[in-house]
Amino acid sequence: MWFRTDLRVSDNLALTQAVASGQPLLCVFCLEDDTPGHRPHGGASRWWLHHALVDLQQALTARGAQLRYFRGPAATILPALCEATGATTVLWNRRYGHDATRIDAPLKTMLRERGLRCDSFNAALLYEPWEVATKAGDPARVFTPFWRQARARGEPRAPIPAPDSLRGFHHDAKLPDEVDLAELALLPRTPDWAEGLRATFTPGETGAQQRLRDFLNNGLPHYATHRDRPDLDITSKLSAHLRFGDISPHQIWHYAGNAVAAGDTNASERDLEKFRSELGWREFSYHLLHYNPELASKNFQPRFDHFPWREDAMALRAWQRGQTGYPIVDAGMRELWQTGTMHNRVRMIAASFLIKHVMIDWRHGEAWFWDTLCDADPANNAASWQWVAGSGADAAPYFRIFNPVLQGAKFDPDGTYVRRFVPELAGLASAHIHAPWQAPPALLAKAGITLGATYPRPLVELDHGRARALSAFASLQPRDNFAAQ
Ligand SMILES: Cc1cc2nc3c(=O)[nH]c(=O)nc-3n(C[C@H](O)[C@H](O)[C@H](O)COP(=O)(O)OP(=O)(O)OC[C@H]3O[C@@H](n4cnc5c(N)ncnc54)[C@H](O)[C@@H]3O)c2cc1C
Repeated sequence: MWFRTDLRVSDNLALTQAVASGQPLLCVFCLEDDTPGHRPHGGASRWWLHHALVDLQQALTARGAQLRYFRGPAATILPALCEATGATTVLWNRRYGHDATRIDAPLKTMLRERGLRCDSFNAALLYEPWEVATKAGDPARVFTPFWRQARARGEPRAPIPAPDSLRGFHHDAKLPDEVDLAELALLPRTPDWAEGLRATFTPGETGAQQRLRDFLNNGLPHYATHRDRPDLDITSKLSAHLRFGDISPHQIWHYAGNAVAAGDTNASERDLEKFRSELGWREFSYHLLHYNPELASKNFQPRFDHFPWREDAMALRAWQRGQTGYPIVDAGMRELWQTGTMHNRVRMIAASFLIKHVMIDWRHGEAWFWDTLCDADPANNAASWQWVAGSGADAAPYFRIFNPVLQGAKFDPDGTYVRRFVPELAGLASAHIHAPWQAPPALLAKAGITLGATYPRPLVELDHGRARALSAFASLQPRDNFAAQ
């Protein structure tokens, strides 16, 4: 069994099939960094992956099997392993995008041509991307009808419990090309920058189940009303667990539904529906990725290929480091740097600021998030960046430009979130915390703030940035077309 983005023993269809076969089981993980077609993990994801693998190893060992680590292209490693061990069947759970088309599909063909059995399963999505289509039979481009069609297919299947025991394949010597987990070098060493990640997350299946229980008790009851508030700890923080398959969407879907039905949580049906529709956005992103494997690099709407992006390395650096002078943007970017995650509303504000006010190509932002987010996901990250840029399917129109001051005041009304991540502004009254350059000098002095010294002045003036972005967008197409959007 080849583990990839399904690092769990419960609700793992390929693993269930392996157990049912009664054959001794060899569990394999391959770090595919240099495999053509595979996008290497960013730093935060590598940290996550290490710990999720440790947790998986414990779960497998407790059941009588063992996870073996390899580094390199699976197309070389798996056939060699079958030959060395006499394995006759290879099983895995499906991935999507280039991993599926450039690596998994040709490998499956190759293994079958060699007379081996090779089967794949869906353990990552509630609905396979190709199961949902428009009435005309085309891929969906708009979320609401996509989700309606998906739901019309019926309830997602119920999750499958973990096997009690496994019949592991035992082989004392190292297998060809086998390495230790440490040799995968997934953890940051010099320096070890992961302290904030450790304080925020417990990667792996055990941590995911605990996280879900906490969320059902504490977050879900406020989800419909407060999910947009970065100052409150309301959302599930399950995205990285989902990305690596520490937990399946089926488990989340059903455990949340059961908890609400049984009255085990104070959450309402409305909270549940809102939460489930966010899982629906994840399904939609994978649908888009399946039909557009270049989603992270190519504008979904080709007219954006002519967009006059600015090259501005200093501004990009200021954004990455949370030094733009816009507190809500800086708080988000520093949350990301310190903890490996960022609240969804702030992701939207920070991404919009980079793309529109600073007019830097969304692909630079996507790449930074890919490196720094624990949940960096081939579908969700790319689709969300294109959504904010206005270049995506069902995207926010380009000319809808978030004002970071108004957004901050609306979603972080007391400035609690800004104070947490931008401590140099902590002494400023809530009325000024989202626009310190407008605060009276006496108040700034009292709060110990010197603009341009202790906290940056705004990187770009908002009206100027907005007007520049709109005129660049207008240059893409005839004016009447623009007005009709
Ligand atoms: C610019 C930008 C980049 C993003 N990059 C990623 C990414 O790399 N990986 C990622 O998983 N999400 C990404 N998102 C979507 C979203 O911000 C995160 O999924 C969410 O913040 C994760 O927090 P949570 O688990 O507490 O979410 P919850 O609110 O608890 O939602 C539950 C689950 O639904 C899914 N979900 C929620 N919102 C979205 C969304 N807008 N689109 C797709 N799925 C969603 C996630 O799997 C999430 O875990 C991005 C959003 C933006 C605006």
